[in-house]
Amino acid sequence: MNKTYQLTDLLTKTQEELASIAQEKLTSCGYTLEIKEGKYIVGTTETENPITLLAHLDLVNKTPPQPQDIIFESEHTTTPERTDERTYTGAVYRLENSQATCLGADDRNGIFAIFSLLDKGYRPYVIFTHDEEVGCVGGGQLREDLENLPQLRDILNQSAMLIQVDRGSKYHFDEVVYYNEKNEQFMDFIQDFGFTDGRKDERVTGSSTDVRVLSEILTPATCNVSAGYVREHGENELCLWDGLTATIDKLERIMRKCQAEGLVFEKVR
Ligand SMILES: [Zn+2]
Repeated sequence: MNKTYQLTDLLTKTQEELASIAQEKLTSCGYTLEIKEGKYIVGTTETENPITLLAHLDLVNKTPPQPQDIIFESEHTTTPERTDERTYTGAVYRLENSQATCLGADDRNGIFAIFSLLDKGYRPYVIFTHDEEVGCVGGGQLREDLENLPQLRDILNQSAMLIQVDRGSKYHFDEVVYYNEKNEQFMDFIQDFGFTDGRKDERVTGSSTDVRVLSEILTPATCNVSAGYVREHGENELCLWDGLTATIDKLERIMRKCQAEGLVFEKVR
């Protein structure tokens, strides 16, 4: 049975616990899995013109927060990390009096987004990785293994695009970042759904993440979109609930459009 999870259920799990939840979830949704224990979970299924979604299972602090440490505020005003151009007022999850050093919405929000889409009946290809925060360990392992997994590589290469759901909102609440991407059509397409165009803002560049590592071996166009968290890796990390649900909505519309129109975007280097 496909079990449904609340965000708090995911925020309070360790990387290992999340890995087994993710494995169970994908299996119950009918996915074929390629797993390397402690490194990655790749789920593929028979979907017409799928996109591939990625999120990482680890969090910066090894101890996740306890349920009682997580406060939900239905109204909270904040601004992005390094600019005061825009203000956000909406519901947030934040930590209080916790042993944990951060909320871990980076990247539990990404996992929650993918789970939500599965619950809505969508079947994108899915990649969950371990230890992204300590140098894309799982992503790097998968990149290496894909050299010897031509069948899986071919399947993933059929996806319309690779989207990591793991971008903080440093400068905008709905950021997208590209990694050495020159496919203008793809970037226009993503922007049309309401993500803030990273090309026009020189500050919006991303450090390494799994999708960047995997784009070294896979052919679809790639990006990393805002997962609705701000001030990640610190005790003031927030999950912007409306930002997270807005991203889920955008991803839903992207999938529907790709499917309806048979769109596929290749990476242009
Ligand atoms: Zn992250």
